[in-house]
Amino acid sequence: MTTNRTFTMIKPDAVANGHIGNILAMITNAGFRIVSLKLTQLTVADAQAFYAVHAQRPFYGELVDFMSSGPIVAAILEKENAVADFRTLIGATNPAEAAEGTIRKLYATSMGENAVHGSDSDENAAIEGNFHFSGREQF
Ligand code: GDP
Repeated sequence: MTTNRTFTMIKPDAVANGHIGNILAMITNAGFRIVSLKLTQLTVADAQAFYAVHAQRPFYGELVDFMSSGPIVAAILEKENAVADFRTLIGATNPAEAAEGTIRKLYATSMGENAVHGSDSDENAAIEGNFHFSGREQF
C-alpha cells in the first residue's frame, strides 16, 4: 500500500548550522505538504532504536552519538510518490556524490553528518512518523 507520506529529520548538523528555514523551504517548494512538524532531540536509546538496522555496521556508535547530540526537526511529509521523490530531493548519502541542487549537496558536510534523513520505504515512513507523532499531531 502506498501512503504518499514520508518521514524526515533535519539532523543535528543542519540545525546547528542554521539551515532549518532553507531546508523547509526546499521541501515545501518541491511540493511536499507538512503533515507534522516539531523541534525535538533524540535520546541515545531513541537513536539506537531508530538505526537498529545498522547495529552491526562500524559507524553505528558514531551515528547514534551524532543523532542524539543536539536538536533535530522531525516531520511527516505528504506528496504523491513521497518516499521516492523525497530521496531524490535529498540526494545520495555521501554529499560528495549527491546531485547538484539536492539538500545534501547544499547543506551536508560528510557521509555521517549529512543534514537530512528520508525514509526508504512506505512501511518505514509510517513506523518512523508514528514514533514521533501521535494521531492528533498528524494533520
Ligand atoms: P540514507 O538512507 O541515505 O540516510 O543512508 P543509510 O540508510 O545507508 O545510512 C543511514 C545514515 O547512517 C546515513 O544517513 C548517515 O548519517 C549514516 N552513515 C551511513 N554511512 C556512514 C559511514 O560510512 N560513516 C558514518 N559516520 N555514518 C554513516
